[in-house]
Amino acid sequence: MAVLLVTGGSRGIGAAVVTRAAAAGWAVCLTYRGDVDAAERVVAQARRAGVEARAVRADVAVEADVEAAFAAADAMGPLGGVVANAGVVVPKARVDAMAASRVAEMLAVNVVGAVVTCREAVRRLSTAHGGTGGSVVLVSSAASRLGSPGEYVDYAASKAAVDTLGLGLAREVADEGVRVNVVRPGIIDTDLHAAGGQPDRVARVGPSVPVGRAGTADEVAAAVVWLLGDEASYCTGSVLDVAGGR
Ligand code: NAP
Repeated sequence: MAVLLVTGGSRGIGAAVVTRAAAAGWAVCLTYRGDVDAAERVVAQARRAGVEARAVRADVAVEADVEAAFAAADAMGPLGGVVANAGVVVPKARVDAMAASRVAEMLAVNVVGAVVTCREAVRRLSTAHGGTGGSVVLVSSAASRLGSPGEYVDYAASKAAVDTLGLGLAREVADEGVRVNVVRPGIIDTDLHAAGGQPDRVARVGPSVPVGRAGTADEVAAAVVWLLGDEASYCTGSVLDVAGGR
């Protein structure tokens, strides 16, 4: 099986993607920014599925880090898939209180990081670059269509950029053997909310979701791994909401 690169694969949705992809037979190279222990736990779990796995420290906001992560994946074998998952939320704030520095730092991860990750993916997967094709999944957010008023409109806007990146790139490389799809999670039970200063967000907002609860990282991972694989061979430029009806 080919190699899958997952950015932000050490915790939350990315870790669940790594675990599911390994069970489906992908060799996995995951990236993380700081939590090496969490990354190594996910690597060990993937290896228990009988596949090769490794973790690479790489900040997706740093171009050279992304390039180094792809080089590490190349060393494992031919790349077949990429999941651009790494993303950050920002503390709750209205637009009239946002510092430019906060917005720029977030966009560097969520948007520039995703574009550079896609660039490196296409350079390897596209038949126009001598590749044999493959699949890219971008992890966006339901925030892109909800706007997150009073919470983090800037984050929501960054995810709208990810949606559009997926739509445009899918059409750009559709006849080069590369499928590109977007998954938009809703409220998912991960550490992300605490990192954004709202540790109670899942408990508070979950019951208001139409299905009555927050989702799990594994429920998102199931959609991602399906889109990566051959069963989704006619899906490209798709945006799949995994948001409990929200
Ligand atoms: P999470 O639990 O906070 O995990 C984030 C992961 O990304 C970790 O592996 C972290 O590594 C890594 N990471 C963070 N910043 C990074 C950077 N600059 N470079 C490389 N890796 C970085 O988050 P999550 O909830 O799984 O979110 C994953 C994706 O889903 C994000 O794009 C997020 O916007 C999106 N999403 C989440 C939800 C939700 O409700 N949770 C909803 C919609 C969309 P370290 O541990 O080393 O820091």
